[in-house]
Amino acid sequence: MTHTKAYAAQEAKAPLTPFSFDRRDPGPHDVAIDIKFCGICHSDIHQARDEWGGASFPMVPGHEIAGVVSAVGSNVTKFRVGDHVGVGCFVDSCRTCPECQAGIEQYCATRPVFTYNSAESDGTPTQGGYSERIVVDENYTLRIPGNLPLDAAAPLLCAGITLYSPLRHWNAGPGKKVAIIGLGGLGHMGVKIAHAMGAEVTVLSHSESKRADAARLGADHYFNTGDPDTFTSLARSFDLIVNTVSAELDWDAYIRLLKIDGAMVVVGIPDKQVPVGAFPLVGGRRSLAGSMIGGIAETQEMLDFCGRHNIVSDIETIAIQQVNEAYERVLRSDVRYRFVIDLATLNSK
Ligand code: NAP
Ligand code: ZN
Ligand code: ZN
Repeated sequence: MTHTKAYAAQEAKAPLTPFSFDRRDPGPHDVAIDIKFCGICHSDIHQARDEWGGASFPMVPGHEIAGVVSAVGSNVTKFRVGDHVGVGCFVDSCRTCPECQAGIEQYCATRPVFTYNSAESDGTPTQGGYSERIVVDENYTLRIPGNLPLDAAAPLLCAGITLYSPLRHWNAGPGKKVAIIGLGGLGHMGVKIAHAMGAEVTVLSHSESKRADAARLGADHYFNTGDPDTFTSLARSFDLIVNTVSAELDWDAYIRLLKIDGAMVVVGIPDKQVPVGAFPLVGGRRSLAGSMIGGIAETQEMLDFCGRHNIVSDIETIAIQQVNEAYERVLRSDVRYRFVIDLATLNSK
């Protein structure tokens, strides 16, 4: 066991404070990783505040992990000491169900073992990336391309794959009109990736303030959803809309912005039920769908795609001691566009 420094929430809604716990020693198939950087995903806040129910404490959040391999187990073949690696939202799954066999382990029928707020098969609680190290099976460890800086690559492990997967599944590419609702951590990755895939990209944002940024990130168009004209002028415009917002929105109004046969894919997770009418769907043979992160193979494909296109997140790096303030700023949409914790600061006063 290795003593590991971290920051944890001791109970729902409590501020995160210094905490330590033991990580297992690497087994034959494990990779030990010195965590260098960890992104702050809005899901960390939802879970540290128990907004989805069933949270377990103490909780060390963090599932956008980038680091360097410090040791490998005797049977590890994919990684060596010194490699740049990442860990995303899950660290294991049953490996035998049809979903695991198909490489979509995020939908494991038994339930994937999430990186934190979950339990290993032996019952040990999992703890996330706001910590100095982690030990993960090599089959659930990702390789970060050498040309990508570890700090700005960290958010690819959740925000990046959460947008890449639906963009691929619904065939974003040349000739396709794609809209991204919400220019936050997820949304800004969606703009960069959809643009690199060759789609025509529109940002639907709830204020004017990100217009210049959207263009810089690769968006072709920007509309303020606070302006009612947006919804009349864009009717029947998009092949695909990816909704990254967790605030309550009128989904019907957005579904009407789809072309015939278009799809709106929900990735943001509101804590309340959203009412949806039949008419906007029926009246355009439209689909309303959801999507959750991506499987291990697809996450590696996304990292390699980002390596080829030089795509990383726009980040603001913080010390771990600033994490509670950063949470408040995420809730105010006051981040351009992802906070990343520098874990070296765990050792500063
Ligand atoms: P974020 O950085 O806070 O971005 C959310 C964006 O939503 C904001 O930047 C803002 O964009 C928009 N927004 C905020 N308040 C709004 C309001 N009142 N009305 C309309 N729009 C508003 O969060 P994130 O990390 O991208 O995560 C977004 C959601 O996705 C969270 O619910 C998270 O749990 C979920 N998530 C899901 C998955 C998955 O696998 N499905 C994975 C990761 C995260 P504008 O200012 O541009 O409007
Ligand atoms: Zn996340
Ligand atoms: Zn499974």
